[in-house]
Amino acid sequence: MEGLLPVRPRPYDGELFTSWLMRLAHANVQRLPFFTRMLTGDANFWVHDADRHLRPDVVEQLAAATGVTPERVEALSLRAFEGRLFPGFQPRSLPRWVLPLYKKGYLRERPGVVYCPHCLREKLYLRLHWRLSFMTACPEHGCELLDACPRCQAPYAPQRNDLGFGQDWSVQPEPPFGYCAACEADLRDAPTRPAAPALVTLQAQLLEALRCGVMPWTPGHEVPAIEGFDVLHQLLAVVVQGDMEAYLTRTCGHEVLQAPPERRNRAFEDHALPDRRRLMQRVTDLIEDWPQRLIRACETARVYKRPLMVNFAAAPAWYVAVADQVSRANGRRPYKRTPLVPHLSLEELRAELQAAPTARERRRWEILCHYHGVEEALPVAQALGASRELVFRTVSVYNESGPDAMRHHQRGRPNPRKRLLTAEQEADLHAAMQRVPMTYEEMADWVERRVGKRPCASTMWIYRRGAENQSREGRRARQ
Ligand SMILES: [Zn+2]
Ligand SMILES: [Zn+2]
Repeated sequence: MEGLLPVRPRPYDGELFTSWLMRLAHANVQRLPFFTRMLTGDANFWVHDADRHLRPDVVEQLAAATGVTPERVEALSLRAFEGRLFPGFQPRSLPRWVLPLYKKGYLRERPGVVYCPHCLREKLYLRLHWRLSFMTACPEHGCELLDACPRCQAPYAPQRNDLGFGQDWSVQPEPPFGYCAACEADLRDAPTRPAAPALVTLQAQLLEALRCGVMPWTPGHEVPAIEGFDVLHQLLAVVVQGDMEAYLTRTCGHEVLQAPPERRNRAFEDHALPDRRRLMQRVTDLIEDWPQRLIRACETARVYKRPLMVNFAAAPAWYVAVADQVSRANGRRPYKRTPLVPHLSLEELRAELQAAPTARERRRWEILCHYHGVEEALPVAQALGASRELVFRTVSVYNESGPDAMRHHQRGRPNPRKRLLTAEQEADLHAAMQRVPMTYEEMADWVERRVGKRPCASTMWIYRRGAENQSREGRRARQ
């Protein structure tokens, strides 16, 4: 196509690229497939998502044919949200918050754009933000947005009015945005329902954040828009997480999703419009009174830090600080730090490790050497390949009973440290018992007179039997 088009309507503020393209074709009384093939040389132009991938040569052509600057044309595509809604545009992947078109040739299997009948009645064009997944209510009219024909349920796809066999919209008085391509119903008459006021307010705030690049998060505190949108998208994944979903629907009375997608790794964009609205409603509730309500919900629903962080490459610090408040390291409560009682210095601990006679004793000193200065069981357990319980037990025995408790007295050998009586006292006791038979009471009195401590029943049993300890030659061994 060469030269300027005879009729050149200017793009409206916030208009979607393909909307302007349809208006251009209609204003010049040309059929859409003919117009776009002449302009782009691509017979399959409407099979692609031109609002996502706007080819530079198409931008140039259109700028030359309409006198609109290439920058202005570019700004009609979803690229306009780069850096505010999603970090960058990857050619082959769908960015967050952008609705996929569910293409089947130039047909649509599911709606990829929403609309407001009242907005269409006021001005007949497609708004750029109607391609965004968080748009579930109209901030201007306070109604729930639609994405299909109320009469025949066909997905909203106005370009279809002028595409395909037997279709010709070029002779119609208005551009094709107001009509269902399947049943010709006037969509501007579609009945609407009022949306929840909190949801409408949030929608307006999100659109404002897209415009100015910052999002008010708490009263008097703003965050960069991209951080706010990232956190919202993350929370939309949290509210479908099993425990949180059960809490929100059963305890808080939120609506249950009607048609959740079958894909397991479903994204927010995979949900149908009514369910997206339900999810946005859940998030609207969760972020109120930030961060108290979220933390309370996480604690009640037993949702910890991991699901709050799972999709983030680099979460904003203000969000991490909140996620940390519901953290349980490895799904447990944060570990209690138990300092090591300074019975021995690190050098002395190392010397004990060197001198340890058995593998088991060596292990204990090894644990203590690692624990020294770290004072947390988990990293020591991981470093040594031991269980956290073993580290914890070793440390508490050492703290309570001192270094001697670490030394390995082999099982079955006399442990002089644990003996209440010395060998001589024991021999005396035996001699006394030989002379006069003693009851347990008398035995206890005898021992108490000599060592100042009253023995327990097991100890007396051991002395009466003459066994070295209860486990080896105690009552079970004698039976
Ligand atoms: Zn509206
Ligand atoms: Zn219809």
